[in-house]
Amino acid sequence: MAVNRYKSLDPLIELRCPDCGETMRTARLDDDPPEATVCEIICPDCDDGDFHAARFIDRYGNEVR
Ligand SMILES: [Zn+2]
Repeated sequence: MAVNRYKSLDPLIELRCPDCGETMRTARLDDDPPEATVCEIICPDCDDGDFHAARFIDRYGNEVR
């Protein structure tokens, strides 16, 4: 099977809850920025019903915009 160069090197992205710090590795979505290695998003346990925007962080710890 040929390597797909178009996709990011890592097919997984780390989800991290900014509230409790829980992390989970999950398959990257097509919409996710390819340079992002972490998606910071509130987990279901911490979700208080408010709107929480996901933040993408690259490998250097910078926010991807
Ligand atoms: Zn949480």
